[in-house]
Amino acid sequence: MAQLSDDCFAFGGPMMSVDEAVAIIAARVAPVKEVETVALKDADGRILASDISAPLPLPPFTNSAVDGYAVRSRDLPKGAEAAFAVGGRVQAGSAATDPIQPGHAVRIFTGAPMPEGADTVFMQEDVRLDGEGRVILPAGLKPGANVRPAGEDIPLGAAALAKGRRLRPQDVALAAAFGLTEIEAARRIRVAVFSTGNELVSPGDPRKPAQLFDSNRFMLMAMLGRLGCEVRDLGILRDDRVSLAAGLKRVAGRHDLILTTGGVSTGEEDHVKAAVESVGTLVLWRMAIKPGRPVAMGIIGGTPFIGLPGNPVASFVTFVHVVRPTVLALAGALPQRVVPMPVRAAFAYRKKIARREYVRVCLRQAADGGLEATKFPREGAGLLSSLVDTDGLVELGEDVTQVEPGQTVGFLAYASLM
Ligand code: AMP
Ligand code: MG
Repeated sequence: MAQLSDDCFAFGGPMMSVDEAVAIIAARVAPVKEVETVALKDADGRILASDISAPLPLPPFTNSAVDGYAVRSRDLPKGAEAAFAVGGRVQAGSAATDPIQPGHAVRIFTGAPMPEGADTVFMQEDVRLDGEGRVILPAGLKPGANVRPAGEDIPLGAAALAKGRRLRPQDVALAAAFGLTEIEAARRIRVAVFSTGNELVSPGDPRKPAQLFDSNRFMLMAMLGRLGCEVRDLGILRDDRVSLAAGLKRVAGRHDLILTTGGVSTGEEDHVKAAVESVGTLVLWRMAIKPGRPVAMGIIGGTPFIGLPGNPVASFVTFVHVVRPTVLALAGALPQRVVPMPVRAAFAYRKKIARREYVRVCLRQAADGGLEATKFPREGAGLLSSLVDTDGLVELGEDVTQVEPGQTVGFLAYASLM
């Protein structure tokens, strides 16, 4: 398991910016060392543990990009059409034919190897047949047209996929194109997840009038699943220091990360802080972010601990900024900065300077074709509907104090945050 020193997450400032938080995490979380071999069909989303360079060029051989007629460009008359006899036929998958005869064309199909000597292909749509076995080739085609040279995509030996890449379907395709059947990946990050709160019951259990079903745990487990984690669902812990401490202690050392939600504010019934302090060390991060209240970071028996706020929206937003980079750092992933997409605000907004805010928005196409972000009409951090009925978050930087309708703002799609 990851072993971290006790003061690992300590931070001096009164308020921490999101960038500071991400930098501290990236600098202090040690990636897990274990590597496992993963079959290609299971490789999507995994973090590559070693560099892959091209064991063969792509494409592996020079081939035609179209269905048509292959020729030697130097046989073509300048500025005039030409009639060439068709000698030979080569389709995808056929072994290369004899070298092309001077002044001849070879019938060829997409993906078929170029006959030796041929360097240019006329598309079948651009030629005519004269009924006597000859093909009429128009003037003006550039030498080399419609040919895919060996290695034009990726040359032999080129660096293709770097260690630390979080594999996407297209990356898996590249590994397959190289003929690989498996890749080396960082082993999955093991995360223990608890909810905390006397008011919570698990879906499926009887709910008393003053209780609500625990939703955060399922949201967090789903987000961790998308990050490729192995998730251990540890249910709900009651709001008392002793049982919280016992629950946390039980899982420390056997996971790479302990994640809780709820109980990290400074109210009398927020016991997570004291519980962590009794079994490990804790720092409370006052992050300059809205929604999101203090986030607790700590170490319990060498295992990193993160305590997220209980309000669902705060939990979601702080997950994105604290848990996601931690999980990726634990897996040895290269930093994944998500770049906001410029869109037009269809709302006015006022905010405090020196803190980052996230506004829940829907995207729609305006009459002029531009993309416009409309704000969810209510602001509460407890409104699950505000996450369900929106497409993403508009990120308002620390220096912004107001937004006027029509102003360009940065949009982050939910899918890009997981
Ligand atoms: P807390 O951070 O514990 O003070 O909780 C803040 C608010 O979030 C309270 O209204 C809680 O009832 C609510 N809350 C806490 N944990 C959860 C959870 N796991 N699922 C849904 N709501 C929660
Ligand atoms: Mg609570």
